[in-house]
Amino acid sequence: MLVFSFHHLSQAEQITHTRFADDMVIVVSPTQRNIKIVQYYLEVFGEITRLKLNCVKVKFTLGARQLSFGGRAQLVRSSIFGLQNFWCANIPIPKYVIHEVEQRIRTFLWDGKDKGPYHSKVAWKTLFLPLKEGGLGFKCMLSWSRVCLGKLLWNIASMKQTLWVQWVQNVRLKGVSVWAYKRRGRDPWYWCKILKVRPLVRQKLQVSVGNGDNVLFWYDPWCALGPVWDYLDETERASLQIPLGAKLSEVEWIMPGARRQTVRLVQSHLWGEVRCRSATVSWGKWLWSCYGIPKFAFIVWFLLQNRLRTKDRLCRWGMEVDPHCVLCGGFETHDHLFFECSYAAEVWRVILQRLGEYRGAKS
Ligand SMILES: [Zn+2]
Repeated sequence: MLVFSFHHLSQAEQITHTRFADDMVIVVSPTQRNIKIVQYYLEVFGEITRLKLNCVKVKFTLGARQLSFGGRAQLVRSSIFGLQNFWCANIPIPKYVIHEVEQRIRTFLWDGKDKGPYHSKVAWKTLFLPLKEGGLGFKCMLSWSRVCLGKLLWNIASMKQTLWVQWVQNVRLKGVSVWAYKRRGRDPWYWCKILKVRPLVRQKLQVSVGNGDNVLFWYDPWCALGPVWDYLDETERASLQIPLGAKLSEVEWIMPGARRQTVRLVQSHLWGEVRCRSATVSWGKWLWSCYGIPKFAFIVWFLLQNRLRTKDRLCRWGMEVDPHCVLCGGFETHDHLFFECSYAAEVWRVILQRLGEYRGAKS
């Protein structure tokens, strides 16, 4: 007969186990020793529960060479980053996992393969810029994971009514505010990652006068200077004789008339702080218009980045190609292909004429 007992760190919450035998992601440092340990425990798990590992499903593959760059970019933006958002919002993701996933996305995006070397056409950082700043609106996983950690931290600080927050309060904090918690040597990795984003989150907390008694006197940024804790040394803090967990509304001597405030964290402000930035571009709005054909929009985007494989660039790379334009015999460059070529000029003339804008070949 199987005997169940509560998890040794979750007696108060009456949790029997912290892992469920549904779809599972196991994150470990990719060393032979770690893989063997995981394999061993999965075998033991299989023997006890008779739930064997399905090796066919244990795979991460991306492959769609037949898609255009635009199609692949769309797939990455909608599906891959959707998965990434989900996982980042629930658990801290190690840096090397983020790096590995990004490497695979790059290979898939540029060459349509699931792994191996790739030929990058545009700097990776450019892709992370919003459309209006000339990028492709991809989400940087590293920055996004910091935002998600900030959200987890805020859930703890604001005592959100979830089982996980309750568990963290009981097992990790034990009555200490998360803002004042001092890291210990044996703290688990995920917990250290959450604590590490405290300065970032504090900086972006918004205090507004309103209803509520949840503002902590020492740790919440209820005045323009930020948290009082950061501005006083140990002696000054002790001289005030205010308990560490005191609420602002309880400190009557400093806030006569029971002034009440609420603190909130706006996730988009946190994202604005950590995301890649560049100046707004004038063409961002019309290039990605819903009336445009994605494939052509991406060609224009490469043109604007000066990254199309025109013959002048191929020659610069040392390739033996005829540098002349097949349409007019001129030297093929970006400007030539789209504006200076006699063929391109004729195309523009016809388009402008139909639009009623034609005022002569030179205009
Ligand atoms: Zn030409």
